[in-house]
Amino acid sequence: MLDLEVKHEKCTICKHDYTSIHTEVAPGVNIYVCTNCLEAAKHNFIWICMSCGKVYLRPKKLVIERLKDQELKRAYMLCEDMQIIQGIDMCIACDPEGIKNYMETHKAAMC
Ligand SMILES: [Zn+2]
Ligand SMILES: [Zn+2]
Repeated sequence: MLDLEVKHEKCTICKHDYTSIHTEVAPGVNIYVCTNCLEAAKHNFIWICMSCGKVYLRPKKLVIERLKDQELKRAYMLCEDMQIIQGIDMCIACDPEGIKNYMETHKAAMC
């Protein structure tokens, strides 16, 4: 028998596909992620802005290559094989001035 009780929501990342898969991106905050976007998360770090809903996707290799801080780099390399989607409070669209510092400190806490 088909389970019609399973809740299908629009994918938070691509806002296109419907999915029942969800993940916690911040304490108490769940988002829905379709299989395509989960696949993308294998090769990309994905950040989602909790404020405006904008999604940022960056190739993992590129992020790691660009990091100059060795500690941070090591932390990121540990996450290379994990599917990481993380919620951020604000993004560049919400906070064009403060974003740089915010993203840097956020990155450090990412793992
Ligand atoms: Zn999706
Ligand atoms: Zn935003």
